Amino acid sequence: MKQRLSILGSTGSIGVSTLDVVARHPDRFEVLALTAATQVETMLRQCAQFRPRYAVMADAQAARALRERVRAERLPVQVLAGAEAIAEVAAHPDTHAVMAAIVGAAGLAPCLAAARAGKRLLLANKEALVVGGEVFLHAVQAGGALLLPIDSEHSAVFQSLPEDASTWARRIEKIMLTSSGGPFRTRDPATLREVTPEQACAHPNFAMGRKISVDSATMMNKALEVIEARYLFGVAPERIEVVIHPQQIIHSMVQFQDASVMAQLGTPDMRVPIAYGLSWPERIESGTPRLDFARMAAMTFEAPDPVRFPCLGLAWDALRAPPGTCAVLNAANEVAVAAFLAGRIRFDQIHGLNLATLERVQPSNPGTLGDLLALDAQARAVAQQGIASL
Ligand code: NDP
Repeated sequence: MKQRLSILGSTGSIGVSTLDVVARHPDRFEVLALTAATQVETMLRQCAQFRPRYAVMADAQAARALRERVRAERLPVQVLAGAEAIAEVAAHPDTHAVMAAIVGAAGLAPCLAAARAGKRLLLANKEALVVGGEVFLHAVQAGGALLLPIDSEHSAVFQSLPEDASTWARRIEKIMLTSSGGPFRTRDPATLREVTPEQACAHPNFAMGRKISVDSATMMNKALEVIEARYLFGVAPERIEVVIHPQQIIHSMVQFQDASVMAQLGTPDMRVPIAYGLSWPERIESGTPRLDFARMAAMTFEAPDPVRFPCLGLAWDALRAPPGTCAVLNAANEVAVAAFLAGRIRFDQIHGLNLATLERVQPSNPGTLGDLLALDAQARAVAQQGIASL
């Protein structure tokens, strides 16, 4: 039987790469639902090609525009609107697997819905796990869902670990997440105040959405990944390290108790972890060019510079702080990045804003989605006040 998919965030970078892999395997996959926020034309093209049963737009006006276009083109697609409809298709009884590729905390509610409904949940939307933390993991366990990482680093760790997850805690000595170092790895830190959104979004190896591109430039993306790794693999924060590897051939590593290190290598292309998540425990063609070791230049490694990348250390601070602190950090950062992209704050002010919000918001052990969303809203309001007072 074909695996039926709901792809959340289908018009984004991960969504488009997912559909590229899906299109290579019409015998294996069928698209039940596509969801997006605003991009009507891209969604229309995807509907024409993949003929999903549902297309959901978070934005009501975009949904109206899409509905008209779908009708005009006579496509057999039901167009729905709003965040609730996204959660509904994520938990739909006919969906086998959900690709969670919405950007930001907006992805949390549909991820929880998919988790509670026991879906195979392919998690690209790291912010959902950073915000949801133990609440998210509890929903996965209670619903009997299968959580598979799509972030290339976490997919690499997952591929380097033994299949029996019950052995991980006693075998793992250290998880080493690799990072390209982003576009400013060698730039004079004193000039970071002049960085423009275009420069911050020019990642050396990947074309990604704008939010994760800025996060890669500040290394806040790696901070979110440290938090994500802590929850996905159940290791203590001090057992997670970050190493800069500009070529991005090694996608991350695990060091075991006998000092042996396992790594996953490959061409930097998100279709590899996406194909692995879709097909696990099998492997399928991803469409990615193969590594040519004979022609490969050197692989280099260095420690991240805490002065150049102050956001990175916030991960360990947040993980050691009371539960809910990671949600505060994520909300602050989403607000800060949006303000930077809108030209309201400077690139080098993102860290200060994140830190100030962490200092001003004290979480009180959020235990439900409602608690988490309230905490997220509170932290966003404080971060906005912080911007206004700059
Ligand atoms: P993009 O910005 O390219 O795409 C985001 C998608 O989410 C779009 O389909 C967008 O719709 C939709 N969306 C945005 N806001 C909302 C909302 N409020 N409600 C519903 N849908 C919304 O992001 P990426 O694909 O780059 O990243 C997606 C996630 O995957 C992020 O969490 C990121 O950290 C993670 N990730 C991305 C990688 C990459 O290579 N890009 C690598 C590893 C992880 P629309 O476009 O129609 O507005």
